[in-house]
This record gives sequence, C-alpha cells and structure tokens, in this order.
Amino acid sequence: MIVAANPGAGYRALKAEIDAAVARTLESGWYILGQEIKAFETEFATWLGAAKAVGCGNGTDAIALALRALGIGPGCAVATVSHTAVATVAAVEMVGATPVLIDIDPDHFTMDPTDLAATLANPPAGLPPIKAVLPVHLYGQAADLDAIGVLCQRYGLTLIEDCAQAHGATWSGKKVGTFGDAATFSFYPTKNLGALGDGGAVALPSDSMADRVAALRQYGWRTHYISDDVGMNSRLDEIQAAILRVKLVHLDAANARRQAIAAVYDAALGGTAIRPPARRPNAGHVFHLYVVRVSNREAVQTGLRAAGIGSGIHYPQPVHIQPAYRGRVALGAAGCRATEAAAMEVLSLPLYPELTNGEVDQVASALRRL
Ligand SMILES: *Cc1c(COP(=O)(O)O)cnc(C)c1O
Repeated sequence: MIVAANPGAGYRALKAEIDAAVARTLESGWYILGQEIKAFETEFATWLGAAKAVGCGNGTDAIALALRALGIGPGCAVATVSHTAVATVAAVEMVGATPVLIDIDPDHFTMDPTDLAATLANPPAGLPPIKAVLPVHLYGQAADLDAIGVLCQRYGLTLIEDCAQAHGATWSGKKVGTFGDAATFSFYPTKNLGALGDGGAVALPSDSMADRVAALRQYGWRTHYISDDVGMNSRLDEIQAAILRVKLVHLDAANARRQAIAAVYDAALGGTAIRPPARRPNAGHVFHLYVVRVSNREAVQTGLRAAGIGSGIHYPQPVHIQPAYRGRVALGAAGCRATEAAAMEVLSLPLYPELTNGEVDQVASALRRL
C-alpha cells in the first residue's frame, strides 16, 4: 500500500542525524527553552528571511499568539477562510475574536480577494468591525498576497499569514511568511517541515513584536516569575527544536522533491478527467499536498485503493458546515459557495519526499488507467 503521507519515512531518512540530536538534548539536562530552541529560532528566521521567529507548542497556538500580540481579540472580527484546517478558525475564537469566512478562488483554493473586497465594503450585520485578515497558503501555494495586501492597506487591517502548509512557498520570489504583520507555522509531523510531535512558530518583522510573542507563550513573563501580560503556556520543547534543526537543513531539498513528484503527476493527468492543481504564475508551490479536482471522487478513490494507493480529502467538510460552527459563524458576501463545491471534489494524492520513483510511477500509471 502506498500511503498518502508518511512521517515515519521522514524520520528513517534522517535517522542517524535525528537520533544524535535527540541524544545530545537528553544529555544536556535542559528540556524547555534552552539552547536548541534559541538556535532553531535563529536558523528558521534566517532561512525564512524574517527578523525573528518564536517557537511555540503548535500551529493553532501560533495563530492565537500572533492575534493576541497584534491586539486582536474580543470586539474584533477576523476575515479568514472556511476551506482550511479547522485550526485556523478555532484559533480566532480562542482569542475571543469573531471569524468571518471568506470564499475561495475555485482554481487555487485560497482566499478570494474579490469576496474579501465585497465583504469589507459591506460587512455582515451585527458583527464587530473586521480588524485583521488571516489568509491560508493552502496545500503549499500562496494566496493572492498582492490583492489581499492592497485591501489590508486600504482598510488599515492587520495581515497574518497562516503558513502551516507552506514552509518555503514563495510569492513573487519571496518566501511567504514575510509579507504580513506576523506569520504562523505548524510543525505537525506531516507538514513540509515536521517535528516528531507537536510544534509551531510565529515569524515576525521586528524584535519588539517577537518579544511580545515570546512573553505571551510563557505566562506573560519577560522576567521569570513576573507576568507583564496575561499569557499562556505554549512552548516548543528542546527535543522537538533539536529535531527541527536537523530537518530544516534538508527542507529545501525535500520541497524540491515534492515539486518533482508533482510534475510527474501533472504529466500523468494530461488527457484524463482529473484536474491537476492549478499554479499561480508568481507563486512557488511547495506541494504540502497534491490536490486534484474530480467530479466522481468516490469512484476514483476506490480505483486507487484497488491499485494499492491511498488518498486523502482535505477537507471533507468546510468549517462553517461542521457541527461546532454550523449556523453560528458569519460568512462573507459570497456565502462560501465555491468552498462548498470544492469540498465535494478535492482529492489528495500520495505526496511526501521519501516516495520512491517506483512508487511515484505506480501512482502515475494508476491515474492514467482510471
Ligand atoms: C496544520 C494546520 C494548522 C494547525 O497546526 P497544529 O500544529 O495542528 O495546531 C493551522 N492551519 C493550517 C492551515 C494547518 O494546515
């Protein structure tokens, strides 16, 4: 069976280096906020091209920390999308802000700037004012940062990029995560940069904002035992930081491998009824997921399964339809119609850097035969 994602293969590919990093950390006797996280934060910020990065417990907390550090909370609405990991929307509510779910551009699956513009011009009644925009660079491809950036400037809105699926993705040649007032990353094991447990980070354009996030992640402390802010506890532990330092060195190569596999799938899908992922001309796509559109999804999934090939659906239900959110979360002007249509048709093919060429060819020939 060729599985859709395989974090264990990611570990085995770097086993000697990772085991050494873990052993070094265990021997150090220092397990929380020590040298490993300090080094990882510096290395990650340098790799990204951001002034600072602050490690935290996971990608959901990263969004919550960024929102709080930028003063977004109760009395603020945040425009984001419904076609995303539920974590994006959960984080907005965690800080007491109100999500407004904007529709997606059906070709690229990211926030539709036309719907964002319509919603900002005519916000849903009864909501607090929209103060921030939280686009998601979904599946490894940037949202339209030019159009979204223009709207944020025009309306004086905070821009936070959810980069949980887009480590290394670019927009106009620059890495995503360097465009907004803050950017958030998840290091969940299957992400392009994955820990072997939970992890996350917030990237920031200034030292002062980074200090703010660093305080919030640990009880609001700037000095031990003295809380300046009401904080939380969301730390990236030393063992995960040490593992991430190993993985970061190999991230660009891993993303290149993802792109090479995507090119093989693209070629295999030519002339089939399965629609390969569309690329934005100025976006460098890093293929966290390779998501096709099919009208007969169940049949395609069954056919793949019969050929020993797993697949996934990201995501089967838009956030605004899930039981916890249905009927109470605000939608933008377009009413998320493109979102609902996409959820019926998206299918994620197996994609991770350790797939062998033989396995990739096996998927490609199964796709041609379907
Ligand atoms: C994975 C993910 C998150 C949440 O990350 P966790 O580390 O699981 O908390 C947030 N947003 C998006 C788009 C994600 O894919």
